[in-house]
Amino acid sequence: MKNDNCIFCKIANGEIPSKTLYEDEDFRVILDLGPATKGHALILPKDHFANLYELPDETAAKVMQLAKKMATQMTEKLVCDGFNLVQNNGEVAGQTVFHFHLHLIPRYENDGQKIGWNPGSPSQDELEEIKNTIV
Ligand code: 5GP
Ligand code: ZN
Repeated sequence: MKNDNCIFCKIANGEIPSKTLYEDEDFRVILDLGPATKGHALILPKDHFANLYELPDETAAKVMQLAKKMATQMTEKLVCDGFNLVQNNGEVAGQTVFHFHLHLIPRYENDGQKIGWNPGSPSQDELEEIKNTIV
């Protein structure tokens, strides 16, 4: 399942060249053109899924196994000090390319990047209400 209008479909399937770190029948791992840090890479499924919600369970499981393998290799080779996995769904969450991808972001002491959020301070009652909404 490819989408003719999707740039990540074209990259994942080799129609547009990329700096490829890994490839198998299901995935291509490429260097991000706008990296947060040295080595910032993206895991792209070769099939088109717009986001996490569309990802088949089997693909989702393989993505995390591949992320572990890549993070291990990249940490060793790049000698980074830590690692972020980031995955955005929806424009409000920062998604700009609507083909599922998992960011692999090596972190270095004093790399100047900040991947995070401003922590809130909900009461126990508020947490209980949220829990009851979700489950
Ligand atoms: P998102 O914001 O959707 O989570 O992440 C999209 C990522 O794709 C960004 O980090 C951006 O730099 C990267 N990107 C966008 N277009 C291209 C491209 O054509 N090639 C590569 N290698 N990365 C891209
Ligand atoms: Zn696509």
